[in-house]
Amino acid sequence: TKKQGGNGLAFYDASFSMPLQQRADMIRLLRYGLENEEFELHYQPQINLENSRIEGFEALIRWNSSELGRIPPDQFIRLAEESHLIIPMGEWVLRTACKFIRGIHESEENKPIVSVNVSVVQLIGHRFEERVLDILRETGLDPCYLELEVTESMMIESMDLVADKLTRLKEYGINIALDDFGRGFSSLSHLMRLPITTLKIDKSFIEHIPENQEDQPLTGLIIQLAKGMGMKVVAEGVEKYVQLDYLKKYECNCIQGFLFSKPLPALIARDWIKAFSL
Ligand code: C2E
Ligand code: CA
Ligand code: CA
Ligand code: CA
Repeated sequence: TKKQGGNGLAFYDASFSMPLQQRADMIRLLRYGLENEEFELHYQPQINLENSRIEGFEALIRWNSSELGRIPPDQFIRLAEESHLIIPMGEWVLRTACKFIRGIHESEENKPIVSVNVSVVQLIGHRFEERVLDILRETGLDPCYLELEVTESMMIESMDLVADKLTRLKEYGINIALDDFGRGFSSLSHLMRLPITTLKIDKSFIEHIPENQEDQPLTGLIIQLAKGMGMKVVAEGVEKYVQLDYLKKYECNCIQGFLFSKPLPALIARDWIKAFSL
């Protein structure tokens, strides 16, 4: 799939299909961007359906390249992984997100969590757990307010190693979310074998919730199964009231999606918390 970049350059989602010279240029620009603070985090609220409060924020990276303009994460995360730049980038994301949520806790009554996407390259990289704990210590954030989002695609190669690392992180009190559940090759055995505390149901499942809700009990069954296993359930990509109604009926814990809010710059996300605590 071909998309237009900021200045009209064409990019490809799959970085391996990029011409070598373009790959090298992009890697150089990513490195430049990291050194020159071209990255920013936006925060998308997750709303608790029981008390209608902001329960958490997912941190989502944004790149405003001085050379290429705004590039969405789908167009550079993979290249960042392949070039291992995801390690310093991911560390910056973690530190920035922890500082952000810690700042909110200092001034607000409501204490939302922050959810951070973690790539497998990061997770199985050198001393990941120690780095996370260092950042928590450095920012003074209690581990119970941090959630790490991982995807099932990580499990293909290194299930045991990944399960091991996640188990240790969970023992420190960090929350572990399984992201994009229902996209591609979801497996119940992953749910059983991994120390998952939160299940994030992929938007492909949510967008199929039809007008006649009785036609589609599958999403509801997944919610009930996950809750039965003691997990918190977050529905992603919620855009319509009919979806909200359905998710309420099946007692989904939280929703995240454009119906409530798109991802917001840090200062605006902070204001939302204030508005919600009035
Ligand atoms: P994701 O983790 O599944 O994040 C959710 C994506 O869905 C975000 O796209 C978000 O803006 C979008 N979204 C939220 N609500 C709705 C909705 O109601 N409808 C629709 N159609 N979309 C919605 P975004 O920000 O472009 O991020 C894309 C992907 O890039 C993320 O998917 C994640 O896999 C990756 N990503 C983003 N930030 C990071 C990061 O800091 N580190 C890593 N490793 N990956 C990241
Ligand atoms: Ca700056
Ligand atoms: Ca995510
Ligand atoms: Ca997701």
